[in-house]
Amino acid sequence: MYIGKAHRYKIMNGLMRRMRIIIVHGGAWNIPEEDKESHRNSLKEALAAGWSALKGNGRALDAVEEAVVHMENSGVFHAGSGASLNSEQKVELDAAIMTGDLNLGAVAGVSCIKNPISLARYVMENSKHALIVGTGAQIFAKQQGIPLCDPDELVTARERRRFKEGLENEFGTVGAVALDGNGNMAVATSTSGTYKKMAGRVGDSPLVGCGTYADKERGACSATGHGESFMKTVAAKTACDALEKEPDAQTAAEKTLQMILKRTGGKGGFILLRKDGDYGIAFTTPAMARGVMKEGMEAPEVSV
Ligand code: ASP
Repeated sequence: MYIGKAHRYKIMNGLMRRMRIIIVHGGAWNIPEEDKESHRNSLKEALAAGWSALKGNGRALDAVEEAVVHMENSGVFHAGSGASLNSEQKVELDAAIMTGDLNLGAVAGVSCIKNPISLARYVMENSKHALIVGTGAQIFAKQQGIPLCDPDELVTARERRRFKEGLENEFGTVGAVALDGNGNMAVATSTSGTYKKMAGRVGDSPLVGCGTYADKERGACSATGHGESFMKTVAAKTACDALEKEPDAQTAAEKTLQMILKRTGGKGGFILLRKDGDYGIAFTTPAMARGVMKEGMEAPEVSV
């Protein structure tokens, strides 16, 4: 039977409509036993928030923002209201959001913003720039009507105690990738960066291609782990490019992380989503908080 072009498109579109999926991560390091339960609960809630944004004609962009906002607000992860402290005992947050159409917004080194991921989206949608840092980002936030908070509001008693006790505390960047019913992709990543980082240090998360990347011709990736290693290897873009060569997204994620480990010694994890909905979740750290919700699943699946 001959299938005309318009009909073929409808079939394709129909297939895409069945491919709705959202994947989240909450950092890839050594997650302490006492934190595992709260991680699992927050991942589930973030997936539920993202999934409800994907319903109907919902957009991947809204889904990744919703999921990440949820994790920023949870106080559980090292992002937003659960931020870890830098060497000066201050909070400096980085975030980036990107769509498969190569639209991008990012902020770095912000300290008075509860939801850096939403500010990154404002940068993408309401400015002619892609990345705004520090005071400039805060001025932009004010212009956009986003309330600034007292930087101390982002410092939890848990983080003060951990800083004092010098506890190994390197985990908790959050991220999400999603594909919606119309075949659009998006990615979002938000972090307070590495433990006791120098004031002014910016990691991979807000840097396009390093910690965050989306391209509808390949896929989308949010990374977590040793930022400097991910910058040197342009990790998220490299993982998306690997989708072209490897048979599946899991292999692409694993091989890219192995290459990074070999070339730089840096460890971490990826959530990697191929344009057709195939996905990979991989890490070279002892643990990674992660979860998935997709078409056909009754409830989100999470692991820590
Ligand atoms: N990649 C983040 C950074 O280097 C840290 C993390 O993922 O835990 O800023």
